[in-house]
Amino acid sequence: MPKAAPTASSPLSAANAAYEDSPQYAGGRFRNTHPRPANSPKPNTKTLLKFFFNKPPNSEPASPLPIQPLSRAELEVAPEHSLYRLGHSTMLMKLRGGWWMTDPVFAERASPFSFAGPKRFHAPPIALKDLPPLRGVILSHDHYDHLDHAAIRALIPRTGMFLCPLGVGDRLAAWGVSAEKIIQHDWWQASEVDGLRLTATPAQHFSGRGLRDGNRTLWSSWVIEDLQNTQALRMFFSGDGGYFDGFAEIGRRFGPFQLTLMETGAYDEHWPYVHMHPAQSLQAHKDLGGHWLLPIHNGTFNLAMHAWWDPFEQILNLGQQHGIAIATPMMGERLDLDAPHAGTPWWRACTDVAAHSTTPSAAGEATRLDSRPQR
Ligand SMILES: [Zn+2]
Ligand SMILES: [Zn+2]
Repeated sequence: MPKAAPTASSPLSAANAAYEDSPQYAGGRFRNTHPRPANSPKPNTKTLLKFFFNKPPNSEPASPLPIQPLSRAELEVAPEHSLYRLGHSTMLMKLRGGWWMTDPVFAERASPFSFAGPKRFHAPPIALKDLPPLRGVILSHDHYDHLDHAAIRALIPRTGMFLCPLGVGDRLAAWGVSAEKIIQHDWWQASEVDGLRLTATPAQHFSGRGLRDGNRTLWSSWVIEDLQNTQALRMFFSGDGGYFDGFAEIGRRFGPFQLTLMETGAYDEHWPYVHMHPAQSLQAHKDLGGHWLLPIHNGTFNLAMHAWWDPFEQILNLGQQHGIAIATPMMGERLDLDAPHAGTPWWRACTDVAAHSTTPSAAGEATRLDSRPQR
């Protein structure tokens, strides 16, 4: 019998009493600002059975995706304000001389089990062991596709601090991260580090890793600001979540943003409250006052019933329609945060998008998008 990864349901021990002060906390669990509307669908047994046993064939690529391998030597000479997408919602950024990483996931599967669950479409462009020391890790919530036990364990000796929403730090402590390295924030709380300001901001989502720990830890998005630079840099990292009025509020308080790292993937008509459809991702970006949109939460794991490439095609198409600059760097490709570029539709090398399209507009746009200008 294969052994399950030793991750499920760590007891939440530290400082629960302190969470009573949080407006997001009630009766031992965290909650969203707006409760799920009674008429909003949520997954039922039929949906879940379909998800596990009857996924459409194009929900995963037929062959491993192309990546740009990334070496330690390349990172050592990387200029300030470099950003690399390593997969899913895992981003590596050089800010004020230090390396920062969001939601580090290097596991083969986004699952509590080593033998079942969504499997990666590609190897990480750089192995965990080759990463440079990290100034900090920024975590959005405790779902398996964002919080990877083995990656956290490996990063402990090489990471200065772990910033996370309330309660996630309790998991980290249970996994061996020392208390002085853990910084837990409620929404709107910030840390200032090396001239950066990192603020946990609201999201409309949920949390949990086992059957009985639902919403015991908080979820968040993050605003990442480098304010001491001559040209202030403001970035938004969405984490996971449905579309809500929090994006406009974050935009009012912190916008405009040069770049949003925006959830675009794992959407479904059965769970609109907790994940956005691409048109909502684009609207959230507009609400925030975003310039460049880099779609994340796609291209690594199969977490929904849509075609694996559908998020890319839809958001490119929407970007064209609405005049929004979309950046789709290949996994491992460098993006200059001070001058982002569009990248290429690299995913088309692995699929005949036009032949399989579930979105008629995406197929129609394919030729034109191929020749889109570099912005
Ligand atoms: Zn999630
Ligand atoms: Zn997720």
